[in-house]
Amino acid sequence: MLGDRWYERAVCRDIEDPSIFNGEQRHSNWRKARRICASCPVQIECLIDALSPDEIHPWRDGRKFAMFQAGLTPKQLTQLYNARSERKAA
Ligand code: SF4
Repeated sequence: MLGDRWYERAVCRDIEDPSIFNGEQRHSNWRKARRICASCPVQIECLIDALSPDEIHPWRDGRKFAMFQAGLTPKQLTQLYNARSERKAA
């Protein structure tokens, strides 16, 4: 279990416009978000958190991701999550 303290070191906590991580934003914003994630010291922790089981993220709509996170688009996160779940089930 990660706990919440990793997020205290997240670079995205202090950015001026957090809406660039919004899944409905344009891809040009995601380029900015990707650069921010690349400089983040907790990118691995962020990815582990993103791929945590749904029980830990009850607000998640099934396996759909709504936000850019850990340097990945919502679609990439969904593909990774589903591939990981399928591997576990096999
Ligand atoms: S990797 Fe990106 S989304 Fe995750 S905590 Fe860091 S800046 Fe935020």
